[in-house]
Amino acid sequence: MAGYSVIIPVFNEEQNVQPLYERLTRVLIALGKPYELLFVNDGSRDRTLAVVKDLANSDRAVKYIDFSRNFGHQIAVTAGLHFSKGERIVIIDADLQDPPELIAAMDEKMNEGWNVVYAKRATREGESFFKKITAKIFYRILARVTSISIPVDTGDFRIMDRKVVNALNQMPEHHKFIRGMVSWVGFKQTFVEYNRQERLSGKTGYTFRKMLRFAFDGITGFSNMPLKLASYFGFFVSFLSFLLILYTLYSKYLLREAVPGWASIMVSILFIGGIQLICLGLIGEYLIRMDANLRQRPLYVVNESNLD
Ligand code: UDP
Ligand code: MG
Repeated sequence: MAGYSVIIPVFNEEQNVQPLYERLTRVLIALGKPYELLFVNDGSRDRTLAVVKDLANSDRAVKYIDFSRNFGHQIAVTAGLHFSKGERIVIIDADLQDPPELIAAMDEKMNEGWNVVYAKRATREGESFFKKITAKIFYRILARVTSISIPVDTGDFRIMDRKVVNALNQMPEHHKFIRGMVSWVGFKQTFVEYNRQERLSGKTGYTFRKMLRFAFDGITGFSNMPLKLASYFGFFVSFLSFLLILYTLYSKYLLREAVPGWASIMVSILFIGGIQLICLGLIGEYLIRMDANLRQRPLYVVNESNLD
């Protein structure tokens, strides 16, 4: 297939699938090449799958993969990448926060010879102050601690060519952070800016827990900084304790004063204890990820699909 594959992860999006389908279809027909709309149903608990199947019955361009349960947004996109057949692959959210009409502009950029064109959020509408501020801080921290440059304020909404997707499909890691993986792959990448819309209907599938896990995947997947942080803390605290020991000896043998009371001991024990726990936690985070990859489980389990 020489045309486009559009990957749409869906999790409880029953109200959004139809309007998304209409807008996407309009945009893709205008591009004038064959296309497939690849819905990945990530264990929705509403009628999402039924709506997608209805579309598939009347339009051969509609393909779907139904997961056996919720595996998470990044894994749903990964499955889409595995099964996509197009020369150009689009990743887009189902809730119309990513305007399908932007695909035309992104595609035009691709024609200039880029391998990846991603959509950068100039503004974000209808999202809580908390989400915006945590996202802002996260992207800045990520940019500082990683050695590859992962673009700030960018989600997974993008177009990639076949070469890039083939490279992504060779990356077997379990804790996916796709926007980072795309940067890691290299090739020529650029962006277009857009104003992120409010979600059309329903509510976000990204709970605070999922967001936190996602942030950890991004940082641990592309940086060893947290592990180094553990040893920096270690050195710093050891140095402080060394000074403290010198002072204790000095006050005991030269000043002949009693060793100061329990307060200082408590403070230093708590301090060192805290740092040790942080460091252990950091090491644990990496171990969890190594373990997941060593176990070699499949990334997802498919219940059914209409792919051939
Ligand atoms: N999504 C998914 N699995 C999940 C959570 C979300 O496939 O566990 C899909 C969701 O249907 C949407 C996209 O991922 O198409 C982005 O999710 P959402 O809009 O909930 O996240 P937000 O925009 O609030 O960050
Ligand atoms: Mg959304």
